[in-house]
Amino acid sequence: MNPFSYERAVDVADAVRRGAVPAAKYLGGGTNLVDLMRETIERPQRLVDVTGLSTEIAEDDDGGLVIGAAARNTALAEHRLVRRRYPMLARAILSGASAQIRNMATVGGNLLQRTRCSYFYDDDGSRCNKREPGAGCEAIGGFSRNHAILGASSSCIATHPSDMAVALVALDAVVHLNSTKGERNVRLTEFYRLPGERPDLETQLQPGELITSITLPASSLAARSNYRKVRDRASYAFALVSVAAALSVEDGRVSDVRIALGGVAHKPWRARKAEEALRGARADAAAFSVAAEAELAGAEPVRDNGFKIELMRRTMVATLEKLAGDLA
Ligand code: SF4
Repeated sequence: MNPFSYERAVDVADAVRRGAVPAAKYLGGGTNLVDLMRETIERPQRLVDVTGLSTEIAEDDDGGLVIGAAARNTALAEHRLVRRRYPMLARAILSGASAQIRNMATVGGNLLQRTRCSYFYDDDGSRCNKREPGAGCEAIGGFSRNHAILGASSSCIATHPSDMAVALVALDAVVHLNSTKGERNVRLTEFYRLPGERPDLETQLQPGELITSITLPASSLAARSNYRKVRDRASYAFALVSVAAALSVEDGRVSDVRIALGGVAHKPWRARKAEEALRGARADAAAFSVAAEAELAGAEPVRDNGFKIELMRRTMVATLEKLAGDLA
């Protein structure tokens, strides 16, 4: 691990002032960043601890939810408003990592965790454009079972590891940012980038910008939602595929739907084509399958991950069938 200084921010203004130097990084729970520092993949010279900032989780004036970026993952998953109004979010968080890690990890840090592509972590001979732009990609042509089938590029086929972020994308979350230049808000669907030719740039976050909170709009639809994750082990494993979905059915037809997919792209993948195919369609397995196929028509598997297409189709159908059954 390289030498670094540690500073604890007392408020947002103090944090962004301390974070406004090129070699600074904000420290949340440290459950990913500290690992990356140990491997010298991340080399900050200054760590600004922001865990003392807002941990509040509360209803906002519009009936939505405001979540302080320093709230711990466990606190969010167990919050009564989350469990009642946004069950997919509680289930997504509880399907990730381990209880110990969820107790430490913050919401802001969860959004910014980096891919678990094994080549990204191996800086002892593996080429990786994300770690070193222009170096090449060892995963293309290499072991690629866990990699992307949607939105990848010839530079990078990594997947985003977060479960929580998949649910937040389906719930139309907004990320609130602050820096010495001021405040701005970004929809989470636009916050994450596809790899293109610069897989090292993963979000719209500018140097020195801090995530201060996340807001969720009020949504009656979200109360009828679920998150389903398929993985190699029952716990402490990243998604091969995952689905966050909310569904509303009237007279046997889909009146509204939100779907986001995990484990298949460089970012949590909002399934707009599937949503479009489903609005007004019969709420049955045949229509769910057609919608899934519409979303997955553009899938481009690589050597080892072709199985993800059928696995995702089945997981989407099963998730939507369960929701429709619960509504019947
Ligand atoms: Fe690096 Fe992306 Fe290739 Fe993995 S898939 S080796 S993260 S460039």
